[in-house]
Amino acid sequence: MIYFESNFNTNGKKGSIEVICGSMFSGKTEELIRRLKRAKFAKQRVEIFKPAIDTRYSDGEVVSHDHNSIVSTPVDSSGNILLLTGDVDVVGIDEAQFFDEGIVEVCNQLAKNGFRVIVAGLDMDFRGVPFGPMPALMAIADDVTKEHAVCVRCGSPAYVSHRLVADSHQVLLGEKTEYEPICRHCFEAEKNKQAETAKEKQ
Ligand code: ZN
Repeated sequence: MIYFESNFNTNGKKGSIEVICGSMFSGKTEELIRRLKRAKFAKQRVEIFKPAIDTRYSDGEVVSHDHNSIVSTPVDSSGNILLLTGDVDVVGIDEAQFFDEGIVEVCNQLAKNGFRVIVAGLDMDFRGVPFGPMPALMAIADDVTKEHAVCVRCGSPAYVSHRLVADSHQVLLGEKTEYEPICRHCFEAEKNKQAETAKEKQ
C-alpha cells in the first residue's frame, strides 16, 4: 500500500503520530527510513531513537536489512526520549515493541508538543500475541500502516514472525536463522503439527 502523508494533518497545525507495523522481514524499518529521508531532504530536522536492547547491528544506527541506515540514539527507557529530543521536526522511533508502556504517553506528549512522530515496530511476537506497547500505539496513532512480508511456505502475505528455534522467551533477538515470516494459514498448520508432535512424545 502506498502511504500518503497528505491524508491527514492538513490544517497547518503540527504534531501527529504514525505507526508502521508488521512482522519481521516486512520492510517496516525500510519504510521508517524512507519517510525520515524524505523529511530530511525537505530540510526538516530528524531525530531517531531505538531501545538500547536492540544491538543486532551497530550501536547508534537504525540499520535495516538492506543496510539503508540512519544514525540513531539508543535509549534505556521511553522517558529518555522526551529528555533527549532536541530542536527537531520529526522524531523516529524504531523497534518500539521493546519499549516500556510509557512509550505511549511519550508519543502523545511529543505530538502535543508539535513533533511529527513516526513509530515502527513488530505488531505481534512469535506466538502471534500483540507485542508490548504496540497495540496501544496503534490505537492512539493518527495513521497506521501494516506492512507484510511474504510467507516463505506458500507465498501469501505473511502476518507473523514464526520462531524456528526452541526458546519460549518473548524477546529473542534474531534474524533469518531464528525467524521466518509465515501467513495465518501456515501458522495454524505449524501449531497443529507441533501439538501432534507433543502428543506423540507423551
Ligand atoms: Zn503461508
